[in-house]
Amino acid sequence: MLRTIFLFVLLLSTNHAFGQDDWIDTSKHEGLKTIPTDYPFSVYSTNNSVQDATDTLNTLHQAHRYFNELFSIDLPFSVMLLDNRNWSRFAFYPPPGMPQAWQGNIILGAEKSAIAHQVSQALSQLPASQLTQLTQVYGSPLNLDLFYRDTLSVHELAHLYHFYSGTKPQRKSLQELFATLAMVAFFKQADCTSCYERMNAYPQFILRGGDRDIEFKTLADFEEKYLNGLGPRNYEWFQMHFYQHAVQLLESENKTLLIKFRHFLLETDLSKIERMSDNELIEALRQNIGSDVADIFEHWQSPKQTDV
Ligand SMILES: [Zn+2]
Repeated sequence: MLRTIFLFVLLLSTNHAFGQDDWIDTSKHEGLKTIPTDYPFSVYSTNNSVQDATDTLNTLHQAHRYFNELFSIDLPFSVMLLDNRNWSRFAFYPPPGMPQAWQGNIILGAEKSAIAHQVSQALSQLPASQLTQLTQVYGSPLNLDLFYRDTLSVHELAHLYHFYSGTKPQRKSLQELFATLAMVAFFKQADCTSCYERMNAYPQFILRGGDRDIEFKTLADFEEKYLNGLGPRNYEWFQMHFYQHAVQLLESENKTLLIKFRHFLLETDLSKIERMSDNELIEALRQNIGSDVADIFEHWQSPKQTDV
């Protein structure tokens, strides 16, 4: 088994498993307005105008160029911008504004989203002194669509680069770390300090909050309960720790990490090889991506709190 795993990096990797025409699930677009744009991807919305999402779409355009070059693919995809009222009609799961991606589509909030509103309402109960760093980045009142839509749309786009060629990763935690790594790598190289801050400020705030009231903390929990079984706070706790690991991995690493990681996801997809045990997976990660990534899965725990 292990022998097979170590050999796969030598094998030719196909760039996609689907025909380009049937990759994007266009049935999802029925009932939405087609928004004319100059982007090399299609935009659909419940609204007549997507002006609110101009920054998001520009960022996606830049990220698409970056990832296409990095992964040597011209990835076709569509963006669906949904208002809160129509979210459940088109999206895969609630709450409205929670970004998601599947079968060539990225689904995002079209306006001030319910999720951004709920979180900013909850945070507004805290003393103003605790919110200083957030208000500096997201304004007052907090506009967390700058995080949930403008930032996380890049995480969702990154998912499409592995879903395009394989939809059954060995572990959900692997696909989430990959998408967050790709997002961090993109914003690190983008010449935009405020964009980086929008990505970084909210995760750092959550990480500073620690583990209070977090019930599930192991990667086995994450696999077993992904996604709805965790509840929003516990799910976010995992995502923020993947984020912290991604920032640390990219302190010294370069683009090779992302290319190797994506290759690993595709070549170990459960449609190609059987499910590895945790030990086999860790060893394969060490051989094919690097010890720093393998160590995360071998020694998973709440990483040290740092002010990045
Ligand atoms: Zn994700």
